[in-house]
Amino acid sequence: MRLLVVEDDPDLNRQLAAALAGAGYVVDRAYDGEEGHYLGETEPYDAVLLDIGLPKMDGISILEAWRRAGRAMPVMLLTARDRWSDKVQGFDAGADDYVAKPFHLEEVLARIRALLRRFVGHAQSEFLCGPVRLDPRAGRVTVDEAPIRLTSHEYRLLCYLMHHSGRVVSRTELVEHLYDQDFDRDSNTIEVFIGRVRKKLGVEVIQTIRGLGYLLAPPDAPR
Ligand code: CA
Repeated sequence: MRLLVVEDDPDLNRQLAAALAGAGYVVDRAYDGEEGHYLGETEPYDAVLLDIGLPKMDGISILEAWRRAGRAMPVMLLTARDRWSDKVQGFDAGADDYVAKPFHLEEVLARIRALLRRFVGHAQSEFLCGPVRLDPRAGRVTVDEAPIRLTSHEYRLLCYLMHHSGRVVSRTELVEHLYDQDFDRDSNTIEVFIGRVRKKLGVEVIQTIRGLGYLLAPPDAPR
């Protein structure tokens, strides 16, 4: 899952990005409103953390512009503590959630997990596919209750497929959601990682749909 952090306070931006990266997300960062607006309009993020008070363009205007342009990704606003009117304005502009500063990073992470699963219509905190279970809170994957050790990249790949199980995900989509903007993207490497994840899981839950991409489905699902 790929996230965008738009925050002009360099320390806070760094803390957020580090916490999110530590939780297994790929993170792009912007430090002013124009840069943030541009990235959110052009790159496919799974969620955005958006500060309201930003140089060059404020968070509410950015959010309104994204929604007018049809950008539907979940957006969590970072608000000043006592500005209740910011929160009302933010929700009306298309925000999905907010946290008030100063916040605990654990709360931000929990809210992001909730946003990501709600956005794909998933209510439970864990993801299941046949014998495979993924717990985003702990970053843990098990098959028939036995823990599976994945690298961070393999985990991100499986996590994205688990969030989108039951539909075909193209290689291009995977590349866009697994790497940050500075990464030299090569969609051929995806196949290598798919192969590694398959081997580690030891059960056939990732189907290759020729010419289209990959489909995560329980082993007994019709092909
Ligand atoms: Ca600010």
